[in-house]
Amino acid sequence: MRPAGPAIRAGVVGDPIAHSLSPGLMAAWIEAAGIDAQYSPYRVAREDAETFLRGLARTECAGVNITLPHKHIALAIADRVSPAAQAIGAANLLTFRDGQIHADNTDAMGFLDALRTGDVDPSRGPALVLGAGGAARAILHALVQAGVPEIRLSNRSRSNALALARDLAPDARIHDWGDRDQALPGVALVVNATSLGLSGVEDLVLDWRNAPGDAVAADSVYRPLQTGFLRDAARQELRIIDGLGMLIGQARPSFEAFFGFAPPTQIDARALLLSHLEPKS
Ligand code: NDP
Repeated sequence: MRPAGPAIRAGVVGDPIAHSLSPGLMAAWIEAAGIDAQYSPYRVAREDAETFLRGLARTECAGVNITLPHKHIALAIADRVSPAAQAIGAANLLTFRDGQIHADNTDAMGFLDALRTGDVDPSRGPALVLGAGGAARAILHALVQAGVPEIRLSNRSRSNALALARDLAPDARIHDWGDRDQALPGVALVVNATSLGLSGVEDLVLDWRNAPGDAVAADSVYRPLQTGFLRDAARQELRIIDGLGMLIGQARPSFEAFFGFAPPTQIDARALLLSHLEPKS
C-alpha cells in the first residue's frame, strides 16, 4: 500500500522561493489534467541543498525544478546530465528515475519557445545578448542551437563575457559594457539577460535609435513584465517579447518530465501568470 497523499509529487527548490510563479502554474495544469499529483515549493538554504536534493531523490518524488541559487549544485550532484545542461553548465530540472538523479536545463528551450510564440526566427540576423550569468548562458546556447548567424555579447564584467563566449560561442563579438550601443546597428534581436530591470533594480538603458526598425527586443526579466528596456524599445516602435514566454516555455517540458505528458492546453498560462504578477513598486 502506498502512503496517503498524492500519487505523484514534484516541486521547485530555491532560496528564496515564495516569489516563484511555478507552483501556481503547475497546480493549474495538474488540476486541468485531472491527475493525482502535487507540486510544492521548497525553500532550502545553499548549505543544505545537496543533502536535501539527495534525500528527495530517495523518496517517491518524480523530480524538481531548480531555481537560484542551486542550479550549479543540482548539476554537480546528478548521475546523468543532458547535453543542454552540460553545455549551459547549470540545471533547472532534476528528475529521479531508476535510483538516479537526471539533470536537464529547459531554460534554453523556454527562450526558443518564447521566440516562436512571438513569431521571431533567430536565424534571421545578428543577435545581441546583454549579460553573462545563468540566463545568458541558456539563451546563448539556445541561439547557437537555433542557427543564429552572428552573436554579439556585452556584459558589465568583460571577463564573464569572455568566459561565456569561450564556453558557448567562440565566434561571438564582445562589446565593452560602456560601448554596448555600438553593437546595435544591423542587429535583428536584442536580449536582456541581465538582472537589470528587475523590480527594485535600475533599468537597462540602450540607445534604441542605433537599432534597425525591424529589430526585436526580448527580456528575460518578467517581474515587472514591462521593463524599462522593453518600454524604451516599444517607444522606438520595435517589437518586444517579455520574460513570461521564457518562463512558460521552460515549465512545459518540466511538467512533461514529471508527469509523462504535455500540459493541458485549455489553461491560458500567460493569463494565469499575469494574475499573479504585481505591478512594479
Ligand atoms: P545571474 O546572477 O547569474 O547574472 C546576472 C547578470 O546581470 C550578470 O551578467 C551581471 O553582470 C548582470 N548585472 C547584474 N547587476 C548589474 C548591473 N548593476 N549592471 C549591469 N549588469 C548587471 O542571474 P541570472 O542570469 O540567473 O538571471 C538574470 C535575469 O534573468 C534575472 O532577472 C532572472 O529573473 C531572469 N531569468 C528569467 C528566466 C525566465 O524564465 N524568464 C529564467 C532565468 C532567469 P556581471 O557578470 O558583471 O555580474
